[in-house]
Amino acid sequence: MENIYRIKCGELINIRAKFTEFKNELCPTSVAHLPQTYEDVKELLDIRSGAEEELLEDSISLNNLAQPDDIPIFDVNLHDLHAKPGQKSIEIPKKAMRLRCMRHRVEENSVRYHTNIPRKYNRYRYIEHKIDNTDESCDLVPLEEILITVRVYEPFVYKRGEGTARKPRLSQEFVVLGRQELTELRDKIYCHCQFGPFKDISNDFESIKNQETEPPEETNTNREDDFGFFFIADTFYNDDRTTKTDYTKEIREWMSRRDDIGPAQVKSMQNVKFEDLNVRVGYPQLYRHYVNCEHIISFTDIRLLAPDDSLKSTDYPLLRCVSSSKMTLCQVCGIIEATFTVKKSNAHIQDPVFLCRNCLISFHYIDGKKVGNFQAFRYYGNRPIIH
Ligand SMILES: [Zn+2]
Ligand SMILES: [Zn+2]
Repeated sequence: MENIYRIKCGELINIRAKFTEFKNELCPTSVAHLPQTYEDVKELLDIRSGAEEELLEDSISLNNLAQPDDIPIFDVNLHDLHAKPGQKSIEIPKKAMRLRCMRHRVEENSVRYHTNIPRKYNRYRYIEHKIDNTDESCDLVPLEEILITVRVYEPFVYKRGEGTARKPRLSQEFVVLGRQELTELRDKIYCHCQFGPFKDISNDFESIKNQETEPPEETNTNREDDFGFFFIADTFYNDDRTTKTDYTKEIREWMSRRDDIGPAQVKSMQNVKFEDLNVRVGYPQLYRHYVNCEHIISFTDIRLLAPDDSLKSTDYPLLRCVSSSKMTLCQVCGIIEATFTVKKSNAHIQDPVFLCRNCLISFHYIDGKKVGNFQAFRYYGNRPIIH
């Protein structure tokens, strides 16, 4: 595969081997466990007196690196930067706070400046996770686990012979534990395909009228009739929990006939842990499901668990970031989110066109009867559901 898409970064590494080697270097056999607190460090270095402690602190102080011509560094609060310049809060009189509108406004302002709100040019939204590592259910030990960041991109249609001008857009970013199986990540990946198959419902007025506007909530996005696979390095990892049919057979046969790709292996996704993988950090890999829905995935970071990460194994795979792509607005009223697509209609200047339920009904139906020729499909958009 590297002959087709040239390697720009990173060597192929086995995660387990690389991090075992790294841990051994971090923690030689003479040390019982890796120091996690300042007290551990003191014990390890055999520091007993205050004078020795001061000497250590002076020797590792960042001030030792300071130069006279350094650019001064200030603490920056990103929320303050987003606040409108020149606006200062004024003290609100107690009398005014008796008004409900004032209370609502103050409440809204306090939320607005303390959450990460998607802004016009913010492409991604980082999800805030409240970490409580004092909880009894914490079962992970810092520096003993491997954390892997996996980015999943929105699906795109590639047509042979046609270049794609659109760059892949990030859909979700997960952090997984090295000890987790590939199926655990697959079950968390959101894709609107899970609501399909999308049939033409233009003749079924009742169905359109009664259609829910919100997608049904599903925590497990892997449906029983969906098979899927990851292609990582030179191996297909099939999800064979529901079917034992190997859908990658034809692709592998085609690959083996080509000199520039080379043969590929096939394994079950269920029995493979992330730390067993051979990966190239930053290199595009494939996740394919629902027959032809293709997502690029990539491993963007691999590191050891730190004390300020969540130490609960149940928190992983942890959804860290989602695309903040805007909703698709109805192309008739321009106010409500589109929940249908209409195709092959001569009543619009575009094809397909995205419509809300009200506009679809008022534009294309009279007394519940379809007017003209067109096809209508349910549309769920690309935004992941965040519970
Ligand atoms: Zn998909
Ligand atoms: Zn509308």
